[in-house]
Amino acid sequence: MSETSRWEQRWHPLREEWVIVAAHRQDRPWQGERRAAVAADKPAYVADCYFCPGNVRVGGARNPDYASVFVFDNDHPCVGPEAPRELAAPPGIYRNRPAGGLARVLCYSPRHDMTLAELTLDEIERVILAWRDQYVDLGARPGIDQVFVFENKGEVVGVSNPHPHCQIYATNFVFKTIETEVAVSDRYWREHGRVLFADVLRSEAEDGRRIIFENDTAVAFLPYFARYAYECFVAPRATHAGLATMSGAELRGLAEALQALLVRYDNLWRMPFPYILVLHLAPTDGGDYPGFHFHIECHPPLRKPHLLKYLAGPELGGGVFLSDTLPEEKAAELRAAASIHYKVAGG
Ligand SMILES: [Zn+2]
Ligand SMILES: [Zn+2]
Repeated sequence: MSETSRWEQRWHPLREEWVIVAAHRQDRPWQGERRAAVAADKPAYVADCYFCPGNVRVGGARNPDYASVFVFDNDHPCVGPEAPRELAAPPGIYRNRPAGGLARVLCYSPRHDMTLAELTLDEIERVILAWRDQYVDLGARPGIDQVFVFENKGEVVGVSNPHPHCQIYATNFVFKTIETEVAVSDRYWREHGRVLFADVLRSEAEDGRRIIFENDTAVAFLPYFARYAYECFVAPRATHAGLATMSGAELRGLAEALQALLVRYDNLWRMPFPYILVLHLAPTDGGDYPGFHFHIECHPPLRKPHLLKYLAGPELGGGVFLSDTLPEEKAAELRAAASIHYKVAGG
């Protein structure tokens, strides 16, 4: 790899912002915090876990003895029908409104000790089908403009309960990142008559170095413009605004690509790989989104086994990411990682 590609700015076409790749200084001395990310072995069932089957949750409801996925309304919702309706108006130019919407939790498995990466392909497919059902159900409700699905995995991203689960926020607004992607994709569609994300997929296929896994219907890749060292996208090949219109074969293919990526994440350092996983689904506000291409984004916060990427001056202060790693090198590491989960493979 030449020095010129190790130190350059790369354009992020979906966010319309620059990413500074400064991989030439990756090995500079580090004296910041090193965090342990290796979780101790967990039991399959924990008596005081709010998410385990048969247990009583913090709100008083008892979980059923579920055997697959399990969805329930969040006992500590950040948006919900109980949010105060009558609010005092703030002074000056400020404004507020009730925190309406609905917050849910989706448990991936009854097993407390599992992670999404360790589930079987059939089980991951069931999770994706549950995402689809929630998207369709909640998205059809009046006043719900967005179904935002995300998973925080690992203590370094502040997970309060290690039981494998994701969260679903059905909101009366569109999340900022998706709003940006929608606007950019829509303009691209009108100007070029093509889907921006499909052109990203085409560019990735043309280069080839950052494709982690692909099958007939789905692709997992570490994009050219990645902001985090191991940031990866998983997407159907065909353009769908959301999960609702995908065929059974496409959903199965997506499950396979997601599993392939998550297994490689865990195998990279032989530890449960922390990440923030988000579904970028088109808004459910009644609009038409022919230029939007549904995808899953994974944002792992670690740069090295115990080394956290801190969001600092450029990122939090200025909204521009500074990457100390080269996407092609990180993609090569993931491509070289084993495709069978280390806990299954043994040794
Ligand atoms: Zn549990
Ligand atoms: Zn996105």
